[in-house]
Amino acid sequence: MKKIAIFGSTGSIGSSLLKIIKDDKKNFKIELLTANKNYKKLIKQANFFNVKNIVLTDYNSYLIANKLLKNTKIKVFKNFDSLSKIFDINKKIDYSMCAISGFQGLKPTLDIIKFTKIIAIANKESIICGWNLIKKDLKKYKTYFIPIDSEHFSIWSLLDKNNNKNHFEKIYITASGGPFRKLALKKFKNISIKDALKHPNWSMGEKISIDSATMMNKVFEIIEAKKIFDLNYKQLEILTHPKSYLHAIVKFNNGLSKLLVHDTNMIIPIFNSIYLNNDKKIKSKKIDIKRLNNLDLKKVDKTRFPVLNILKNINDKDSLFETIIVSANDKLVNLFLGGKINFTDISYNLLKICNMSQFTKFKSKKPKNIDDINNLANYVSLKIDSMSV
Ligand code: NDP
Ligand code: MG
Repeated sequence: MKKIAIFGSTGSIGSSLLKIIKDDKKNFKIELLTANKNYKKLIKQANFFNVKNIVLTDYNSYLIANKLLKNTKIKVFKNFDSLSKIFDINKKIDYSMCAISGFQGLKPTLDIIKFTKIIAIANKESIICGWNLIKKDLKKYKTYFIPIDSEHFSIWSLLDKNNNKNHFEKIYITASGGPFRKLALKKFKNISIKDALKHPNWSMGEKISIDSATMMNKVFEIIEAKKIFDLNYKQLEILTHPKSYLHAIVKFNNGLSKLLVHDTNMIIPIFNSIYLNNDKKIKSKKIDIKRLNNLDLKKVDKTRFPVLNILKNINDKDSLFETIIVSANDKLVNLFLGGKINFTDISYNLLKICNMSQFTKFKSKKPKNIDDINNLANYVSLKIDSMSV
């Protein structure tokens, strides 16, 4: 029986993992589920899967859940500081999924590494801001890492596990182009929240859907790939591919190039991560020849998606500047989702922030610990408040 934990279980990725486990319930014991506010869904999940520990990080939701679950077997915690009360470093659980959205995913990701044999990370923000800290702990606690983001899962699958960065020259990741791939540029100003949330191919949480619409998601994915596979930015390129069938191409030094296609469904990487080294069969569609014949790969259009210019601004050396990009974007996306700014204000302000000397100076500073990252993120958030964007 595999012991597992799911951070962000009420979200799109977390719920997909639970759907897989539902069909194989007897082989799993879920030790922990977490959410921010959605206590109703979290309690339902905990009851259905017989889970003893849950975390609700929103204080009001925690208070309500605590009241509702009084005299039951379910223990409610208000943050991730209590993980040592739930897990034992000498009896590691088998698998943890980090699927909290946004910047707040970093702390629990770092906190769970020592308690788990395998860590699957969907939360790209934690990889981008804290990869040097994550990598150090993966090594220290001998924890095995699997990237879940579809492009990175594809690259990871294409690389021979003994392969190192000297064996390949270049990696291409694909981008669908999101809902506004063909929208007339003059209409970008009037994009509504509802339009921006409607991704043509993927069904995802709100934050990542907006990032896909601005193309910030690909900026993140390039940084993510750079860090996970220890590359330089010149080795990475984005290609648009409207059907999201092909996820990555690796061009090896020996003249071979490998491409990976799979159904446009996050269930595939999630399933393969939880059934690693297991011959379990997943229900999937037949190879789609029509889509293979029409991959329609193109270079990305930077005038349509100006945030892509941020990539020119980042050094190959990891630094706290990546935290600025992530936290500024988090804040601006929240302002857009709250109806406070226009869609185009996200890109405009991000580019502005990325060129301000008070922020560019962080390109030479590496995060030493999570406080460095959190303090800087708070500073960025306050700065944006004072900028009247
Ligand atoms: P969702 O928005 O659907 O779910 C987010 C989850 O995190 C929910 O359980 C939510 O709880 C919880 N959460 C949100 N904010 C906080 C917080 N401040 N503290 C603690 N928990 C919080 O996100 P997705 O499942 O779409 O994405 C999760 C991560 O995976 C993201 O980083 C995303 O970029 C990445 N990813 C997602 C893909 C996808 O297809 N969805 C593809 C590739 C990567 P509550 O329900 O209470 O709000
Ligand atoms: Mg992706």
